[in-house]
Amino acid sequence: MNSLNISGEAGSSEIFLNGKLDDLNRFIKNRKTCIITDENVHHFYKDQFPSDIPIIVVPAGENSKTIESAGSIHRKLVELEMDRGSLLIGIGGGVITDLTGFVASTFLRGIAFGFAATTILAQVDAAIGGKNGVNLDGYKNLVGIIRQPEFVLIAADTLSTLPREELVNGMAEVIKCGLIADIELFNILADAAKNENPFKHTDLALVCGMAAKVKVDVVNIDVFEKGVRRHLNLGHTLGHAIEKLKKIPHGFGVSAGIIAAAKISIKEGLISKDVLKVITETLGGYGLPLSYNITAADAMDAILKDKKRKADKINLVLLENIGKATVKPFGFTELENALVEALK
Ligand code: ADP
Ligand code: ZN
Repeated sequence: MNSLNISGEAGSSEIFLNGKLDDLNRFIKNRKTCIITDENVHHFYKDQFPSDIPIIVVPAGENSKTIESAGSIHRKLVELEMDRGSLLIGIGGGVITDLTGFVASTFLRGIAFGFAATTILAQVDAAIGGKNGVNLDGYKNLVGIIRQPEFVLIAADTLSTLPREELVNGMAEVIKCGLIADIELFNILADAAKNENPFKHTDLALVCGMAAKVKVDVVNIDVFEKGVRRHLNLGHTLGHAIEKLKKIPHGFGVSAGIIAAAKISIKEGLISKDVLKVITETLGGYGLPLSYNITAADAMDAILKDKKRKADKINLVLLENIGKATVKPFGFTELENALVEALK
């Protein structure tokens, strides 16, 4: 198995590409271990989990990513007599990796943890980089910590059971990774997207591995999101707003957000219309939505609510080319004006 390394102030992490659930055994190293997973992943894969290890199963979905759910897991860990030398393994998508990282980082002031990522979204984004948060009162990731998992196993052998909508959802982040930092990855995706069923023509283990590497490289430069890590937010400022307003999956909002960012990039003289065209064809080819019917005013309102912190400018990630991103600060009125055009 190929692996990549993250190291910095928040600890170090080894990311194993193209892995299998079976590989988890090697990470346990005689430690007292507990697995956290959700109902769906448990249903499909419990027989492939490391044996004779207690499993905590939470309901599937974002509602499990809360302080309350973390608290009830903390109590179970006490019952199981987990100690400072114990290990927590989260097996699942982004909800499970975030929840596991948060629980492990707060239990006994922090015990070791690792992940087997079973969704595209988790494999290329959520599980990598050490951000472990839970939601509070409807605000996403309001409570959390940056701390690296000891290992991230990209469980490539689990994607075959992923529902179609989850596959499509995850591809938005894979395409994003190509757009901000890897033209070769983007070109592979753009080629596959020309087919009627692009997933048939996509080597998911390969492209998820390439996208994971983009994230690893960025995080290694900037663990605490002061500079280049912001590039990962391409499509996310507007994406999060649309996600909230339309109650759609994360990747769908990101896809429409990327299109808007590309349109603004044209307006700023950074890219040509041809670049927008190939981005549109690639996102659309994989079944991702390109726009939603919302007004710039509503989008702006949601963007400002999402920001939580007060600032007079919003940093927007734009494209200078395929494979190259840049950040430009926008005043509120300037951004709303740009959105009027970009949302058309
Ligand atoms: P994310 O998209 O952030 O990774 P979740 O952790 O909520 O979000 O996972 C999305 C959904 O996919 C959940 O319902 C989860 O139970 C389900 N799921 C996760 N991994 C698999 C898998 N390998 N096969 C089938 N369903 C899965
Ligand atoms: Zn995202």
